[in-house]
Amino acid sequence: MKIIESVSQASVYVADMRASGKKIGFVPTLGGLHKGHQLLMQRAREENDAIIISIFLNPMQFRKPQFLKYPSDFEQDMRVAEEINVDMIFHPPVAEMFQHVAHIDNFFKFQTAEAAHRQDEHFVIEQQDENGIDNLVRVPSNLVYQLDGKIHPWTFDGAATIVYKLFNILQPESAYFGEKDIQQLAILTKMAETYFPAIKVIGVPTLRDADNLAFSSRNVLLSDEQRRTALSVYHALKHGEHLIRTGESDAAIVLNAIKAIIAAQPLIKIDYIDIVDKRLLKYAKKISDDMILYAAFFLNGIRLTDTLIVEL
Ligand code: AMP
Repeated sequence: MKIIESVSQASVYVADMRASGKKIGFVPTLGGLHKGHQLLMQRAREENDAIIISIFLNPMQFRKPQFLKYPSDFEQDMRVAEEINVDMIFHPPVAEMFQHVAHIDNFFKFQTAEAAHRQDEHFVIEQQDENGIDNLVRVPSNLVYQLDGKIHPWTFDGAATIVYKLFNILQPESAYFGEKDIQQLAILTKMAETYFPAIKVIGVPTLRDADNLAFSSRNVLLSDEQRRTALSVYHALKHGEHLIRTGESDAAIVLNAIKAIIAAQPLIKIDYIDIVDKRLLKYAKKISDDMILYAAFFLNGIRLTDTLIVEL
């Protein structure tokens, strides 16, 4: 397994792969690798000749306290990747991806007036924004102001910006993303259609642990009690699913039932809970199509999310 930190070496590696006719499958990650990430890598392994994963804790996707708290252990990540026979880990330092940004704090300034930079239905690529970020991708309003993008839209600009850069460098045949981050998947699918039509974006269902908690890098930060508490969110979403499957078609009733179960947990601070139409990612008063039940919450300052897709 090769570990590459520089963009120029990664480009040489990819060119060699292409010259030998190998199809590349790519799994971008923030690190803190777990079995959910392994599922994406396995899928990439099955469908390609070589797999590249990236491990890059992207400062554009977090506020600073969450960024500093994010669990990363590169030695452990290498072991997890090796189990799936990953061919190359691209592990660039921040300066390699954002050459013109002097200090990490600058990333957090770009959130101000973010709305002014967007178009309704089209992506905007800012060659260089006022903080020195090159090729900053602004996600269209119709995709970004949904679900918890209503509260922190810049997270998705951050994810789109880094994936745009990674796609340009690595030029894979296919890239794999989790349905757990359903809005990210929708945005990156659209971005690839717009700028990288040769890259197939593939969504992979959420992998859960034996107790049904979705695998997440941040789960290692939870005590046993907090883990049980986090599971109550899954049970609340399951209850919502049960209501829908037994004929409830009023989205407000389902949403309120979910919220009531979660609100009864004093340790949980709700960030965002919603029920949206799967195709449009928009709230629909009447449930008549496939739906997404989504919850983002804080547990002892740790931000977690869970997603259930209800196919009708
Ligand atoms: P992250 O490092 O959290 O950005 O995750 C990297 C990729 O793995 C993203 O596309 C996630 O949606 C996906 N992912 C994270 N957790 C899971 C999971 N439990 N099951 C499947 N995919 C996941």
